[in-house]
Amino acid sequence: MPLFRKKRVREYLNEVTFLKEYEEILKQRSLSISEKPSVELIKEKTVQKESLFDKLTRTLSKTKNNVVGKLNSVLSKNNALNEDTLDEIEEALYTSDIGVKTTELIIQKLRVRIKDMKSDEDLDIKNLIKDEIVNMINIPDKIDTNNIEKPYIILVVGVNGNGKTTTIGKLAHYYKSEGKKVLIGAADTFRAAAIEQLQTWAERTGSDFVKHQMGSDPAAVAFDSYKAGEARDMDIVLIDTAGRLHNKVNLMNELEKITRVLKKLNENAPHEVLLVLDATTGQNALSQAKQFSRSSGVTGIVLTKLDGTAKGGVTIAINQEMDIPVKFIGLGEQKEDLEIFDPKVFVETIFE
Ligand code: GDP
Ligand code: GDP
Ligand code: MG
Repeated sequence: MPLFRKKRVREYLNEVTFLKEYEEILKQRSLSISEKPSVELIKEKTVQKESLFDKLTRTLSKTKNNVVGKLNSVLSKNNALNEDTLDEIEEALYTSDIGVKTTELIIQKLRVRIKDMKSDEDLDIKNLIKDEIVNMINIPDKIDTNNIEKPYIILVVGVNGNGKTTTIGKLAHYYKSEGKKVLIGAADTFRAAAIEQLQTWAERTGSDFVKHQMGSDPAAVAFDSYKAGEARDMDIVLIDTAGRLHNKVNLMNELEKITRVLKKLNENAPHEVLLVLDATTGQNALSQAKQFSRSSGVTGIVLTKLDGTAKGGVTIAINQEMDIPVKFIGLGEQKEDLEIFDPKVFVETIFE
């Protein structure tokens, strides 16, 4: 892709991110959009904060190299576009974790496009593929935190090690920075260390914290977290859960019991059930999504550890093959390393 184009996409994305943030700041300070930003404000935002596009470019580099690297090598050694080339493109896409369904759709579209191609036409295959993915991608609803029932209960579920506790810390930080009052409930009561790890996140983010002793009933913790959230006028209550896979039936029963107890307190609760998946496991993340979605009323997916893996293409597979939207992505271990999933920016980044 010519350099000028790349630069313009980057500038555009920076601008979009900046404008979104700018609107947020105006909202927080109760200013109207017609008031011009001060020079200081613009400097503050542009100097201090890495844009979403730059952050994704930095953290998704392995995925980017994997997806586009393979495509590039196919495209560079084939001058003519024919069935053989299409086979190679299919192979490249298939092995970059974007999923069977997405790959098949792209190849179908490419085949049609190539048939219609004029003899003197130059096709930018990489761009065509990117556009196809952007066209088929599902855009998730954002959680509109200015318009929620209080306390808004977010239950966080998933297999151990996927990043539930860390994600709760990041979510707490995210909502706190939006000016929300946040309470965290430690319903993973299986290990003392799990409770301590979560407590550290509560302290780090200045969130309220509800815990019981190790080994106590997780549903009882959820109950108390709800009650405390209500009594203390909390906006958001984040509930951590255990996720030991070797007793899957117990785990599912435990999650159902938590949900049942919350529903008795408020039929709308839990308002969200976020399933945390580890992107480094590739296609396994997709099959976990399918397993969990059957039983526990999952409303959204958080895909973690995209920073350390070449298998981030699975984000696109999950977006395509699940009815449940990917709502957040994890890009590191720090509290700032969580982003609302923006599929378009995600795909643009990978193909840039
Ligand atoms: P849980 O068992 O599901 O609660 O998982 P934890 O929150 O304890 O996370 C397991 C490990 O994954 C920890 O070492 C975390 O620091 C790490 N982790 C979680 N999210 C991310 C992420 O987005 N990126 C990276 N690189 N590591 C992460
Ligand atoms: P193991 O011997 O370490 O495999 O543990 P078990 O599966 O026999 O469980 C021991 C006890 O802990 C039982 O009473 C289970 O109901 C309970 N338990 C097992 N897994 C979990 C979990 O993930 N969370 C909570 N809170 N309790 C669990
Ligand atoms: Mg945990």
